Amino acid sequence: MMPKGEIKEARTVSALRQAVAGWRGRGERVGLVPTMGAIHAGHLALAGAARGQCERVVASLFVNPKQFGPAEDFTAYPRDEAADFAAFEKAGVDLVFTPPVAEMYPPGFATAVRVSGVSEGLDGAFRPGHFEGVATVVAKLLLQCLPDAAYFGEKDYQQLMVVRRLVRDLDIPVRIEGVPTVRETDGLALSSRNVYLSAEERRTAPLLYRVLCDAAARIIEGGDVAGVLDQGVAVLRGAGFAVDYLELRDAVDLTPVERLAGPARLLAAARLGRTRLIDNIAVAPPG
Ligand code: AMP
Repeated sequence: MMPKGEIKEARTVSALRQAVAGWRGRGERVGLVPTMGAIHAGHLALAGAARGQCERVVASLFVNPKQFGPAEDFTAYPRDEAADFAAFEKAGVDLVFTPPVAEMYPPGFATAVRVSGVSEGLDGAFRPGHFEGVATVVAKLLLQCLPDAAYFGEKDYQQLMVVRRLVRDLDIPVRIEGVPTVRETDGLALSSRNVYLSAEERRTAPLLYRVLCDAAARIIEGGDVAGVLDQGVAVLRGAGFAVDYLELRDAVDLTPVERLAGPARLLAAARLGRTRLIDNIAVAPPG
Protein backbone atom coordinates (compact mmCIF):
# COMPACT_ATOMS: atom_id res chain seq x y z
CA MET A 1 0.00 0.00 0.00
CA MET A 2 1.40 3.37 -1.05
CA PRO A 3 1.04 6.48 1.11
CA LYS A 4 0.06 9.53 -1.04
CA GLY A 5 0.31 12.45 1.35
CA GLU A 6 -2.01 11.63 4.27
CA ILE A 7 -4.21 9.44 2.17
CA LYS A 8 -3.27 5.87 1.27
CA GLU A 9 -3.64 4.21 -2.11
CA ALA A 10 -4.25 0.51 -2.71
CA ARG A 11 -3.87 -0.73 -6.27
CA THR A 12 -4.46 -4.41 -5.55
CA VAL A 13 -7.27 -6.37 -3.93
CA SER A 14 -4.83 -7.88 -1.44
CA ALA A 15 -3.58 -4.44 -0.30
CA LEU A 16 -7.19 -3.27 0.09
CA ARG A 17 -8.13 -6.38 2.08
CA GLN A 18 -5.10 -6.01 4.34
CA ALA A 19 -5.97 -2.42 5.24
CA VAL A 20 -9.67 -3.16 5.81
CA ALA A 21 -8.90 -6.30 7.87
CA GLY A 22 -6.59 -4.25 10.12
CA TRP A 23 -9.29 -1.64 10.75
CA ARG A 24 -12.10 -4.09 11.28
CA GLY A 25 -9.87 -6.16 13.57
CA ARG A 26 -9.62 -3.08 15.80
CA GLY A 27 -13.40 -2.73 15.84
CA GLU A 28 -13.45 0.21 13.41
CA ARG A 29 -16.38 0.43 11.00
CA VAL A 30 -15.53 0.82 7.33
CA GLY A 31 -17.58 2.69 4.71
CA LEU A 32 -17.03 2.24 0.96
CA VAL A 33 -17.75 4.95 -1.63
CA PRO A 34 -17.52 3.56 -5.18
CA THR A 35 -16.76 6.19 -7.85
CA MET A 36 -15.41 6.54 -11.37
CA GLY A 37 -13.39 9.64 -10.40
CA ALA A 38 -13.85 13.21 -11.74
CA ILE A 39 -14.80 13.91 -8.15
CA HIS A 40 -17.35 16.64 -7.39
CA ALA A 41 -19.48 17.68 -4.42
CA GLY A 42 -21.96 14.84 -5.12
CA HIS A 43 -19.26 12.22 -4.55
CA LEU A 44 -18.06 14.15 -1.51
CA ALA A 45 -21.56 14.01 0.00
CA LEU A 46 -21.27 10.22 -0.16
CA ALA A 47 -17.85 10.41 1.54
CA GLY A 48 -19.34 12.75 4.17
CA ALA A 49 -22.19 10.32 4.87
CA ALA A 50 -19.65 7.50 5.22
CA ARG A 51 -17.49 9.65 7.50
CA GLY A 52 -20.52 10.31 9.70
CA GLN A 53 -21.24 6.62 10.22
CA CYS A 54 -17.85 4.89 10.00
CA GLU A 55 -14.42 5.33 11.57
CA ARG A 56 -12.74 4.56 8.22
CA VAL A 57 -13.70 5.55 4.70
CA VAL A 58 -12.51 3.81 1.54
CA ALA A 59 -13.23 5.40 -1.86
CA SER A 60 -12.75 3.41 -5.02
CA LEU A 61 -11.72 5.10 -8.24
CA PHE A 62 -12.26 2.87 -11.23
CA VAL A 63 -13.61 3.82 -14.65
CA ASN A 64 -15.36 0.53 -15.32
CA PRO A 65 -15.11 -0.36 -19.02
CA LYS A 66 -17.92 -2.93 -18.68
CA GLN A 67 -20.59 -0.33 -17.97
CA PHE A 68 -19.94 1.74 -21.10
CA GLY A 69 -21.53 0.84 -24.44
CA PRO A 70 -19.35 0.73 -27.61
CA ALA A 71 -20.61 4.17 -28.71
CA GLU A 72 -20.29 5.73 -25.24
CA ASP A 73 -17.63 7.95 -23.68
CA PHE A 74 -15.29 5.44 -21.96
CA THR A 75 -12.08 6.86 -23.48
CA ALA A 76 -13.25 10.49 -23.21
CA TYR A 77 -14.54 10.10 -19.62
CA PRO A 78 -12.92 12.91 -17.55
CA ARG A 79 -9.92 11.64 -15.55
CA ASP A 80 -7.83 13.67 -13.07
CA GLU A 81 -6.37 11.43 -10.38
CA ALA A 82 -4.34 14.12 -8.63
CA ALA A 83 -7.38 16.37 -8.17
CA ASP A 84 -9.47 13.37 -7.09
CA PHE A 85 -6.95 12.39 -4.40
CA ALA A 86 -6.83 15.98 -3.10
CA ALA A 87 -10.64 16.14 -2.92
CA PHE A 88 -10.87 12.76 -1.20
CA GLU A 89 -8.21 13.78 1.29
CA LYS A 90 -10.13 16.95 2.23
CA ALA A 91 -13.29 14.86 2.67
CA GLY A 92 -11.53 12.60 5.20
CA VAL A 93 -11.14 9.53 3.01
CA ASP A 94 -8.53 7.17 4.50
CA LEU A 95 -7.78 4.99 1.50
CA VAL A 96 -8.37 5.17 -2.24
CA PHE A 97 -8.64 1.88 -4.12
CA THR A 98 -7.38 2.39 -7.68
CA PRO A 99 -7.27 -1.05 -9.32
CA PRO A 100 -5.87 -1.25 -12.86
CA VAL A 101 -8.34 -2.84 -15.32
CA ALA A 102 -6.31 -6.10 -15.28
CA GLU A 103 -6.66 -6.31 -11.49
CA MET A 104 -10.47 -6.15 -11.79
CA TYR A 105 -10.79 -8.21 -14.94
CA PRO A 106 -7.78 -10.54 -15.21
CA PRO A 107 -7.28 -12.58 -18.39
CA GLY A 108 -10.00 -15.22 -18.65
CA PHE A 109 -12.53 -13.20 -16.64
CA ALA A 110 -15.88 -14.77 -17.59
CA THR A 111 -18.52 -13.85 -15.01
CA ALA A 112 -21.36 -11.34 -15.30
CA VAL A 113 -23.97 -10.39 -12.73
CA ARG A 114 -27.38 -9.67 -14.24
CA VAL A 115 -30.18 -8.28 -12.09
CA SER A 116 -33.53 -8.60 -13.85
CA GLY A 117 -36.63 -6.53 -13.05
CA VAL A 118 -35.19 -3.25 -11.74
CA SER A 119 -32.49 -3.23 -14.47
CA GLU A 120 -35.08 -3.32 -17.24
CA GLY A 121 -36.57 -0.22 -18.86
CA LEU A 122 -35.40 3.36 -18.20
CA ASP A 123 -31.59 3.47 -18.56
CA GLY A 124 -31.58 -0.33 -18.96
CA ALA A 125 -33.45 0.11 -22.24
CA PHE A 126 -31.29 2.97 -23.55
CA ARG A 127 -27.92 1.61 -22.40
CA PRO A 128 -27.89 -2.13 -23.19
CA GLY A 129 -25.45 -3.99 -20.94
CA HIS A 130 -24.93 -0.98 -18.67
CA PHE A 131 -26.49 -2.41 -15.52
CA GLU A 132 -24.85 -5.78 -16.05
CA GLY A 133 -21.51 -3.92 -16.04
CA VAL A 134 -22.55 -1.96 -12.95
CA ALA A 135 -23.83 -5.02 -11.05
CA THR A 136 -20.69 -7.00 -11.89
CA VAL A 137 -18.28 -4.30 -10.74
CA VAL A 138 -20.30 -3.40 -7.63
CA ALA A 139 -20.53 -7.07 -6.59
CA LYS A 140 -16.75 -7.31 -6.99
CA LEU A 141 -16.04 -4.08 -5.10
CA LEU A 142 -18.30 -5.08 -2.20
CA LEU A 143 -16.72 -8.54 -1.94
CA GLN A 144 -13.18 -7.18 -2.34
CA CYS A 145 -13.63 -4.60 0.41
CA LEU A 146 -16.35 -6.17 2.59
CA PRO A 147 -17.17 -2.82 4.24
CA ASP A 148 -19.88 -2.37 6.87
CA ALA A 149 -21.74 -0.01 4.54
CA ALA A 150 -21.48 1.24 0.96
CA TYR A 151 -22.76 4.63 -0.19
CA PHE A 152 -24.56 5.34 -3.48
CA GLY A 153 -26.20 8.51 -4.82
CA GLU A 154 -29.93 8.84 -5.45
CA LYS A 155 -28.83 10.75 -8.57
CA ASP A 156 -28.45 7.31 -10.18
CA TYR A 157 -31.69 6.02 -8.69
CA GLN A 158 -32.11 2.96 -10.89
CA GLN A 159 -28.50 2.00 -10.12
CA LEU A 160 -29.23 2.31 -6.39
CA MET A 161 -32.22 -0.02 -6.76
CA VAL A 162 -30.13 -2.49 -8.79
CA VAL A 163 -27.46 -2.50 -6.07
CA ARG A 164 -30.04 -3.00 -3.29
CA ARG A 165 -31.55 -5.97 -5.18
CA LEU A 166 -28.12 -7.46 -5.92
CA VAL A 167 -27.00 -7.30 -2.30
CA ARG A 168 -30.23 -8.90 -1.06
CA ASP A 169 -30.24 -11.61 -3.71
CA LEU A 170 -26.58 -12.61 -3.28
CA ASP A 171 -26.57 -12.24 0.54
CA ILE A 172 -23.66 -9.81 0.43
CA PRO A 173 -23.25 -8.71 4.06
CA VAL A 174 -23.03 -4.96 3.40
CA ARG A 175 -25.56 -2.23 4.29
CA ILE A 176 -26.44 -0.04 1.29
CA GLU A 177 -26.99 3.66 2.04
CA GLY A 178 -28.63 6.01 -0.48
CA VAL A 179 -27.57 9.68 -0.38
CA PRO A 180 -29.76 12.55 -1.70
CA THR A 181 -28.74 14.24 -4.96
CA VAL A 182 -26.43 17.25 -4.68
CA ARG A 183 -27.44 20.07 -7.05
CA GLU A 184 -26.06 23.34 -8.38
CA THR A 185 -27.95 26.39 -7.07
CA ASP A 186 -30.02 26.41 -10.28
CA GLY A 187 -31.11 22.81 -9.66
CA LEU A 188 -28.86 20.97 -12.12
CA ALA A 189 -27.74 17.68 -10.56
CA LEU A 190 -23.95 17.56 -10.25
CA SER A 191 -22.42 15.07 -12.67
CA SER A 192 -18.94 14.36 -13.96
CA ARG A 193 -20.46 14.64 -17.45
CA ASN A 194 -21.62 18.25 -16.96
CA VAL A 195 -18.17 19.36 -18.18
CA TYR A 196 -19.26 18.29 -21.68
CA LEU A 197 -21.99 20.99 -21.76
CA SER A 198 -21.39 24.12 -23.88
CA ALA A 199 -22.16 27.46 -22.20
CA GLU A 200 -25.53 27.60 -23.94
CA GLU A 201 -26.40 23.99 -23.05
CA ARG A 202 -25.39 24.68 -19.45
CA ARG A 203 -28.00 27.47 -19.35
CA THR A 204 -30.69 25.10 -20.66
CA ALA A 205 -29.71 22.08 -18.52
CA PRO A 206 -31.50 23.07 -15.24
CA LEU A 207 -34.84 22.86 -17.11
CA LEU A 208 -34.68 19.09 -16.65
CA TYR A 209 -35.02 19.43 -12.88
CA ARG A 210 -37.68 22.17 -13.20
CA VAL A 211 -39.77 19.92 -15.44
CA LEU A 212 -39.42 17.07 -12.92
CA CYS A 213 -40.52 19.36 -10.07
CA ASP A 214 -43.49 20.81 -12.04
CA ALA A 215 -44.63 17.38 -13.21
CA ALA A 216 -44.34 15.93 -9.69
CA ALA A 217 -46.39 18.78 -8.24
CA ARG A 218 -49.14 18.29 -10.83
CA ILE A 219 -49.22 14.52 -10.29
CA ILE A 220 -49.47 15.04 -6.52
CA GLU A 221 -52.38 17.45 -7.12
CA GLY A 222 -54.15 14.61 -8.94
CA GLY A 223 -53.24 15.44 -12.55
CA ASP A 224 -53.49 12.63 -15.12
CA VAL A 225 -50.06 10.97 -15.07
CA ALA A 226 -49.79 10.21 -18.81
CA GLY A 227 -50.94 13.72 -19.73
CA VAL A 228 -48.54 15.41 -17.31
CA LEU A 229 -45.61 13.33 -18.60
CA ASP A 230 -46.48 14.06 -22.26
CA GLN A 231 -46.49 17.78 -21.48
CA GLY A 232 -43.16 17.52 -19.66
CA VAL A 233 -41.60 15.79 -22.67
CA ALA A 234 -42.99 18.51 -24.96
CA VAL A 235 -41.48 21.29 -22.79
CA LEU A 236 -38.09 19.58 -22.83
CA ARG A 237 -38.19 19.01 -26.60
CA GLY A 238 -39.20 22.62 -27.12
CA ALA A 239 -36.05 23.71 -25.28
CA GLY A 240 -33.81 21.50 -27.44
CA PHE A 241 -33.55 18.31 -25.37
CA ALA A 242 -33.73 14.91 -27.09
CA VAL A 243 -35.74 13.01 -24.49
CA ASP A 244 -34.92 9.34 -23.86
CA TYR A 245 -37.62 8.96 -21.20
CA LEU A 246 -39.70 10.73 -18.57
CA GLU A 247 -41.48 8.11 -16.49
CA LEU A 248 -43.22 7.58 -13.17
CA ARG A 249 -42.17 4.36 -11.46
CA ASP A 250 -42.71 2.62 -8.13
CA ALA A 251 -40.05 3.92 -5.71
CA VAL A 252 -38.84 0.43 -4.74
CA ASP A 253 -39.40 -2.09 -7.52
CA LEU A 254 -39.48 0.48 -10.36
CA THR A 255 -42.63 -0.97 -11.95
CA PRO A 256 -44.56 1.61 -14.05
CA VAL A 257 -47.09 3.74 -12.14
CA GLU A 258 -50.20 4.95 -13.98
CA ARG A 259 -51.97 6.40 -10.94
CA LEU A 260 -50.17 7.69 -7.85
CA ALA A 261 -51.09 5.44 -4.91
CA GLY A 262 -47.83 5.01 -2.95
CA PRO A 263 -44.22 6.23 -2.92
CA ALA A 264 -43.09 6.74 -6.51
CA ARG A 265 -40.14 8.18 -8.38
CA LEU A 266 -40.18 10.39 -11.44
CA LEU A 267 -37.14 9.60 -13.58
CA ALA A 268 -35.82 11.29 -16.71
CA ALA A 269 -32.98 11.01 -19.18
CA ALA A 270 -32.47 13.56 -21.93
CA ARG A 271 -29.67 14.59 -24.22
CA LEU A 272 -28.43 18.11 -24.88
CA GLY A 273 -26.01 17.97 -27.80
CA ARG A 274 -23.54 15.19 -26.95
CA THR A 275 -24.29 15.26 -23.22
CA ARG A 276 -26.76 12.82 -21.71
CA LEU A 277 -28.31 14.06 -18.47
CA ILE A 278 -30.27 11.93 -16.00
CA ASP A 279 -32.23 13.07 -12.96
CA ASN A 280 -35.08 11.93 -10.72
CA ILE A 281 -37.18 13.04 -7.77
CA ALA A 282 -39.47 11.44 -5.20
CA VAL A 283 -43.23 11.70 -5.74
CA ALA A 284 -45.35 10.80 -2.71
CA PRO A 285 -49.14 10.85 -2.54
CA PRO A 286 -50.48 13.67 -0.34
CA GLY A 287 -51.20 12.97 3.36
P1 AMP B 1 -19.94 8.04 -10.68
O1 AMP B 1 -18.54 8.44 -10.36
O2 AMP B 1 -20.65 8.99 -11.60
O3 AMP B 1 -20.08 6.60 -11.04
O4 AMP B 1 -20.74 8.21 -9.32
C1 AMP B 1 -20.28 7.58 -8.14
C2 AMP B 1 -21.34 7.71 -7.08
O5 AMP B 1 -21.62 9.09 -6.84
C3 AMP B 1 -22.68 7.06 -7.49
O6 AMP B 1 -23.23 6.39 -6.37
C4 AMP B 1 -23.50 8.26 -7.88
O7 AMP B 1 -24.89 8.04 -7.73
C5 AMP B 1 -23.00 9.31 -6.91
N1 AMP B 1 -23.30 10.65 -7.40
C6 AMP B 1 -22.99 11.17 -8.63
N2 AMP B 1 -23.48 12.41 -8.75
C7 AMP B 1 -24.14 12.69 -7.59
C8 AMP B 1 -24.87 13.82 -7.10
N3 AMP B 1 -25.03 14.91 -7.82
N4 AMP B 1 -25.40 13.74 -5.86
C9 AMP B 1 -25.25 12.62 -5.10
N5 AMP B 1 -24.55 11.54 -5.49
C10 AMP B 1 -24.01 11.56 -6.73
